[in-house]
Amino acid sequence: MSAEDGIRHHYRTCHLCEAICGVEIRLRGNEILSIRGDPADPFSRGHICPKAVGLKDVHEDPDRLRHPVRRTTGGWQRIGWDEAIDEVARRIVAIQAQHGHDAVALYLGNPTVHSYSALLSGAVFARALHSRNRFSATSVDQLPHHLAAWLMFGHQLLLPIPDIDRTGYLLVLGANPVASNGSLMTAPDIVHRLKAIRARGGRIVVVDPRRSETAALADRHHFIRPGTDALLLFAMIHVLFDEGRTAPGRLQPFVDGINELERLAAPFPPAAVAEATGIAAAEIRTLAREFAGAAAAACHGRVGTSTQGFGSLCQWLIQVLHVLTGNLDRPGGAMFTAPAFDLVSRTQGTSQAGHYDRRRTRVRGLPEFGGEFPVAALAEEMDTPGKGQVRALITSAGNPVLSTPNGTRLERALGGLEFMASIDFYINETTRHANIILPPTFALERDHYDLVFHLLAIRNTAKYSLPLFEPPPGTRHDWQILDDIATRLGVHDPKRRPGIGERLRARWLTPRRTLALGLRFGPRGAGWNPLSNGLCLSRLARLPHGIDLGPLESCLPARLGAGKRIQLAPGPFVADVERLARQLSGPRTGPSLQLIGRRDLRSNNSWMHNSHRLVKGPNRCTLLIHPTDALQLGVADGTLVRVRSRAGAIAVAAEVSDAVMPGVVSLPHGWGHDRPGTQQAIASAHAGASINDLTDELAIDTVSGNAAFSGVAVTVESTAT
Ligand code: SF4
Repeated sequence: MSAEDGIRHHYRTCHLCEAICGVEIRLRGNEILSIRGDPADPFSRGHICPKAVGLKDVHEDPDRLRHPVRRTTGGWQRIGWDEAIDEVARRIVAIQAQHGHDAVALYLGNPTVHSYSALLSGAVFARALHSRNRFSATSVDQLPHHLAAWLMFGHQLLLPIPDIDRTGYLLVLGANPVASNGSLMTAPDIVHRLKAIRARGGRIVVVDPRRSETAALADRHHFIRPGTDALLLFAMIHVLFDEGRTAPGRLQPFVDGINELERLAAPFPPAAVAEATGIAAAEIRTLAREFAGAAAAACHGRVGTSTQGFGSLCQWLIQVLHVLTGNLDRPGGAMFTAPAFDLVSRTQGTSQAGHYDRRRTRVRGLPEFGGEFPVAALAEEMDTPGKGQVRALITSAGNPVLSTPNGTRLERALGGLEFMASIDFYINETTRHANIILPPTFALERDHYDLVFHLLAIRNTAKYSLPLFEPPPGTRHDWQILDDIATRLGVHDPKRRPGIGERLRARWLTPRRTLALGLRFGPRGAGWNPLSNGLCLSRLARLPHGIDLGPLESCLPARLGAGKRIQLAPGPFVADVERLARQLSGPRTGPSLQLIGRRDLRSNNSWMHNSHRLVKGPNRCTLLIHPTDALQLGVADGTLVRVRSRAGAIAVAAEVSDAVMPGVVSLPHGWGHDRPGTQQAIASAHAGASINDLTDELAIDTVSGNAAFSGVAVTVESTAT
């Protein structure tokens, strides 16, 4: 921090989304005067998005809880930390003693991955809870990525990242990085990076049921019917084999299953999938030829391809496309990162590398992945009576009522729990059901390092941010709360009491020390050598803008998991191909429309709508509907329409637009702040409607169990009729 005319400058990483932009915060005393992009950050180069000001807004938000509260019949009552922690631990132990360990479930929300301390201590807490009913935001929209990485490359975190700074051809499927700033592809300043592809003679093609903001920067955009991306990918692969365009190159010696892929792709020639996908056979051939013919090509398939009935097949086939064209592990293709704190090498060969289907959920029999069950099963595990029923829930940094499928059913189930505790600083649509809320400090009161997003970045960098503010007296960090509950569980249940060695280790090995050790002894670390130029936490702390560690580098087969081979035809994916083939002979259209989601730049899922600057202006929670469908339904622009699905109904304003394809409607996610009992005044005044009152917990990607939010069958009618 520097001082000048009473103005201080603080440099840190914005933790609000995956782009990890560097920000410069100007302060006078403790007053934040401005938040700007940090031009000296080697990765984000001065870029920020409009959400960055949310750092100030959330920090100063009068609705943010600063002390624990208990729900009583007379309203929320302030209580002390010790009392709150003790009650949470006591109730967990009592319910588990009566009904078994699995009677208490855990849900970790998306912001967990934006706090290294919550991430590290969350895993420890999950073990202390002794429950197999663990859920997280992973199965909301990205589980198929991790499953494909585990089954193909041998580690759930070995996610290939499109090398967009060097690619000559970017195929974007079901992703809108201009609005998301990159997701599972950390790419700050994405607009300029995309424009640079075309400026150097490359090409961008976007395939999406909506002509998105990213499509506006592309050479071509194709509408595709929701849920049919796997058919398109198989047809492209068919063309590669049919025209002799497969060329794995240096990958060939360590790839298994190429012949199996040729057999599997045979029933999917472009002509066979054209009607189902809505993309002409000739165009599919062109896509395959362009991808194979580019000097370097990458495919970025994100939320739209994961959150559908064939999400796992999509993520698998995207990587197959990379391998068959020699674009995996090639500059300009899809590459692996080499972060300074390397979660992959730290856990390679352990159960944390991944495991799948070791057990199944009680009610529907959905498979676990990495020790977690799909969140689409959470409500039924709570509201279905019987042995093993979930009777209590602990949530941390999540709002599953608004972010998981069929939020209405989940909300009803929360109301029926014997006990619920939430680690959160807002009383939101989910935490309002808690008996106890334990608010952690906000990010500006903590240090910061991105354990996950350096791993997913398009360039290797490292950056550590010191806390901007001292945490106010009497507040606790997320990891301290989790640690305190875990310790207290041992007080109420002697069987969980840790031994002296374990206690000393837990006390000494704080998240910060774990980070320091991980950096020092990581692949770029200084180790024990005091003269080394390698990284350590203290060196990083002296580099407030971060450090550039260079472009992604080829690393296969060394970085692969056990066996050092790429599995191109994993059994669970191969077994699902027949179901995909049946889609070709199934009904093409029905009387209903297909609902898809969308994201906008000023929203961050559900939790930043209490910032006036981020919600002001025209209503963004509108239902996009194509003019042809609108005309047929008697819906005009701005008409209030009722949208119904199997799960429920909402009322929302229509926005007539040819940016969505005929037969498809689109609604943004994260809204629906009109539930009574929340304490987020600005969000309530800009409530919108929740897409997850329409999405269906029974619709999933069969292989992974990930929720299938895209392509939900809905009907739309004007409320005036
Ligand atoms: S793009 Fe993401 S990381 Fe960058 S300023 Fe916006 S919210 Fe923060």
